Amino acid sequence: MKLPTEPIGSIPRPDELIDAIAGKPNSKPFDVLYEKAIGDTLTEFVKTGSPVITDGEQTKSSFVTYPLEGLTNLASNGVTINFEDGHTRQLPLLTSGPFRYGNYAVKYLDATKKKTDMPVKQAIISASALSLIYPQDGISGYSQADFISDLLNECEKDIRQCLEHGAHKVQMDFTEGRLSLKLDPSGGVLKHFIGLNNQVFDRFSEEEQQKLGVHVCPGGDHDSTHSADIDYADFLPELFNLHVGSFYLQLASEPDRVKVLKIIKQYLKPNQTVFIGVIDVLNPVIETRETVRDRVLEAAEYIPIQQLGTTDDCGFSPFCDDVSTKRETAFAKIKARIEGTKLAEQQLFN
Ligand SMILES: [Zn+2]
Repeated sequence: MKLPTEPIGSIPRPDELIDAIAGKPNSKPFDVLYEKAIGDTLTEFVKTGSPVITDGEQTKSSFVTYPLEGLTNLASNGVTINFEDGHTRQLPLLTSGPFRYGNYAVKYLDATKKKTDMPVKQAIISASALSLIYPQDGISGYSQADFISDLLNECEKDIRQCLEHGAHKVQMDFTEGRLSLKLDPSGGVLKHFIGLNNQVFDRFSEEEQQKLGVHVCPGGDHDSTHSADIDYADFLPELFNLHVGSFYLQLASEPDRVKVLKIIKQYLKPNQTVFIGVIDVLNPVIETRETVRDRVLEAAEYIPIQQLGTTDDCGFSPFCDDVSTKRETAFAKIKARIEGTKLAEQQLFN
């Protein structure tokens, strides 16, 4: 394909895995369920025609908490994220140092690459999201500066391992970017987050940075968002200061896409590619390929086609227990993205 197209990452887990996560008695062992879920996901992904695939994050607890799995120096009362429909997700709080990941993303990549020769993309969580687990009143004997130093090393390691193990792309999930403007409309926190993540990206060569990307969205959990009311116009100019080659942006669900495309056009830098969301992951209606084609053609009016790609607005199930989207719906939508992108290509490159 001439227009690159990539998924974000997560796919709803199979019913029997969801049941086991919910603690249903007589479930099969997790290793059996995980193995089957990854295998089935890869099979379904290939059927969509997707040139780049993921493991659907079948074995991640969530896009943000996987590095914290197994850690014993955590308490439960951390930062709470409020979603529009009233539900919340709460991060844990670190209780003592030093901070080390309990689990690295390369584990998922390795398990997937064992089963497929297709290009595999791997998502990792941002340093800025994990920076929120350090308590506001500090930890005695482990300063915030010590913590940030450890965090940057761990985040770098998480990315580097994935590159070394052959990830097609490594995508940093930066969903707290837009949210930060809700918590701090001055933009100070956003600038701080961007700076923190650039401290990680700057440890990679320019060539490596071209294999790195960032995903942003207004959150997507139980078909609800946390920061869709924050204007993209305030967020995007800062976003393109991140030192990576690819940007995966929610766009299909934006009320005024043209306004957003004009901002992207203004701030996108020459060595950057923007993958625009052409699939609304929160809407159960499956897009037609013509709808997708038209969204790509619309974007191509503003963005140079050499710097344009397509993606889904978000993962289809960033938290493992989210059952708001059906698995079949997710794959049907991905198929529509692939076919619609091809239709647009035929018009753009002829
Ligand atoms: Zn997202």
